[in-house]
Amino acid sequence: MLITALPAAAVVLVLLSLFAIEQQDARDDVAVDQAIEIDVAAAHLLALVVDAETGTRGFVATGDALFLEPETAARHELPAALDRFERLIAQQPGRPPAADLRNALDKQLMTLQALKTLQALKTLGSDPSISGARLTAAASEEKTSTDDVRRQIAAIQQHERLLHEQRGAARERALARANRLAVLVAGLGIAGGVGGSSLLMARLVRRIRNVERNALLLAAGEPLRPDSRQGADEIASLAASLDNAASLIRDQQRRLQLALEVGRINVWEVNPDDEMTMQGDRADEYGRTMEAGLSTLRPEHAQAVRDGVDGVRRDGEPRDYEVQSVRDGRWFAGRLMRSSETDVIAVSVDVTALRQTQEDLRESEVRRGLDALAASEQRGKYNALVLGSAGEGIAAIDARGRCISANPAAARMLGYEVAEIVGRDLHALCHHSRPDGSPYPPDECIMRAAAVSGEATRVEDEVFWRRDGTRLPVAYSVSPLSDGGSIRGAVVTFTDISDRHDADIEAERLAAELRAGIRAGEMVLHYQPKIDLRTGACDSVEALVRWQRNDRLVYPDDFIGVAERCGVIDELTDCVIRSAAEQIANWTAQGIDLRVAVNLSALSLVDDRIVDVLVSRADEHEIPVSRLDVEITESAAAENPEPVIAILAKLATLKVHTAIDDFGTGFSSLSYLKHLPVSALKIDKSFVMNMPNDTRDQAIVASTVHMAHSLGMSVVAEGVENDLVARILQRAMCDAGQGYHWSRPLEPAKLVDWLRTQTSGRS
Ligand code: C2E
Ligand code: MG
Ligand code: MG
Repeated sequence: MLITALPAAAVVLVLLSLFAIEQQDARDDVAVDQAIEIDVAAAHLLALVVDAETGTRGFVATGDALFLEPETAARHELPAALDRFERLIAQQPGRPPAADLRNALDKQLMTLQALKTLQALKTLGSDPSISGARLTAAASEEKTSTDDVRRQIAAIQQHERLLHEQRGAARERALARANRLAVLVAGLGIAGGVGGSSLLMARLVRRIRNVERNALLLAAGEPLRPDSRQGADEIASLAASLDNAASLIRDQQRRLQLALEVGRINVWEVNPDDEMTMQGDRADEYGRTMEAGLSTLRPEHAQAVRDGVDGVRRDGEPRDYEVQSVRDGRWFAGRLMRSSETDVIAVSVDVTALRQTQEDLRESEVRRGLDALAASEQRGKYNALVLGSAGEGIAAIDARGRCISANPAAARMLGYEVAEIVGRDLHALCHHSRPDGSPYPPDECIMRAAAVSGEATRVEDEVFWRRDGTRLPVAYSVSPLSDGGSIRGAVVTFTDISDRHDADIEAERLAAELRAGIRAGEMVLHYQPKIDLRTGACDSVEALVRWQRNDRLVYPDDFIGVAERCGVIDELTDCVIRSAAEQIANWTAQGIDLRVAVNLSALSLVDDRIVDVLVSRADEHEIPVSRLDVEITESAAAENPEPVIAILAKLATLKVHTAIDDFGTGFSSLSYLKHLPVSALKIDKSFVMNMPNDTRDQAIVASTVHMAHSLGMSVVAEGVENDLVARILQRAMCDAGQGYHWSRPLEPAKLVDWLRTQTSGRS
């Protein structure tokens, strides 16, 4: 047996405790097979014992010694580990070189402790019956002890990781150095223990343990105990490093806490028992269990978080949540994640302000949307109102001529409902035939052409066809329907010109009757005297035409317009001039010497044929043409001044008196007056009749008189209905007057009577 040779063992070396732990599984086997016990809890060290005579190797723990057969040692690479350890010792600055250490250890080899242990083991080995029970106990103790060590080592490794993560490689180096130191000191401890320097050894081991304990405290986040910091050796340096690490960690934690508070971030973690730890600005409010924390949330949100936690526990997938506190209404958005095999961690942020902003934004967007909708509805309503109220028919067609919209007036005028028009070809519906009933090919349709070409068109007089087949005389405009610059169709706006048509028909009928009346001699002239306001004498009269229609007398305002529109005016003018000339001749035969003024239409003043008419009619009745005066309206003179001026000039050479009738109503510029070779201005009766009551009229009349006289013209005031007006006119130096005050327009015989009355009255 190896054990019998041990008293002669010569060399003890010290091994790294970690190595011992790494080899733990192997040693389990050894313990069972070889009754080996390792006091790993003491310092986690092994000593190698080598028999100086035989070269046999064995291992001794710091407390009790154990031995391995060489094969077992080789199997676990202990020799290589020994070599590593020797190198390690040699690298320690200020430490004895390996050879010295070996010597020192040689001297200490046979310590009482080792001997005692070896003796005990020998005793055990020599008594197999006792050995069985002790071995079992030893194995069980070892197992317990091994678990403890594993936990400690795991704690230290955890701590190392923490340090590494938080402080980087520098901390790691410090720890490595501490480990090396621990090895060294432990080695020394073994040596001391084996060699009798147990006091020094005990102190070193205590300090190492303090360092170890502080490392564990650091890993647990607890304050360090200060008693390891004494001295200036490697252990003190390690202790200082740990202090440093603790201080850095505290700084990190303070900053982290600050960041959590400023960022309104909360971190909470629950274990399988739903116990909760929490960090952050509201950490104090939520209690120590998940249920306590969830009770501060709206129930449906609490349930959602609960489900989320269950889900993360189940499949490890992160889950987001958003919750509201029932205490103060604040909102939190968070994410649930798995933090370890069993625990779930959540990070949440206070998003109250964000939600409020979102809600404000949403509200304002909604508000704007609603406003826009209301405005658009309002616009739509107004558009519908406008279209519905329009008297004109309005219809829109697309580029193919199909009606896409129609207003009620359009439908009504055509005899349809709006819905019956929309969608139909508008040309085929109401524009299919020309006014004379002949076919109107669609490709010649003006509406369709505008919808394609985009050119606006206006048609003054055409015919649409109603549903019942009757004609609808229309004037219509076609405007392109453009959308963003491209032509989509056309808008047709049409008005019913039936009234105009009816009026035209009526006018045509009247004109025909008028023409017939002229030819039948139904036109009669009444004569109204013009009075010289200075002498009261009457030397001229105005011929005013009447139409003796059956037993009714029709006045000129009712047919002059039709005569002008329907081309009867020339015939009428000729009739009047002929009658006037004839009357002059008659009166001349009776010894009555009067000039007779005839009214000429603007249509008779386009060329000088009217001069020929006057001359020829005068000649026919053998009277001087100068016995025929001429009145033309101010508007006729102003509208077409050039031929009018030429006519007036010719008449002037014929000594024909000419007058501008209805002066003051033509709204024309007075500048044209100086070019008009006329004898007189006839002030319109609208300025004369109310002169007594209207000083402005008086002013107009007086200034007109003044102006006319300045231009070499005389002035006649028409519409003189009473003596007061006559006297005002006299005072205004007006030359002549005409009006009911003296006489209404009279038949020729009655005029002669009136003249006689006047003559006898004056005489
Ligand atoms: P006018 O040439 O200005 O004729 C004067 C009109 O005033 C006449 O109406 C006359 O009856 C009316 N009148 C005269 N004195 C007074 C008065 O004191 N008070 C009021 N309230 N009215 C007075 P009448 O005869 O109905 O003629 C109307 C117009 O018809 C004439 O206005 C003239 O422009 C046109 N007219 C008359 N005869 C002819 C004609 O033979 N040829 C053409 N082309 N036009 C004619
Ligand atoms: Mg007149
Ligand atoms: Mg007049």
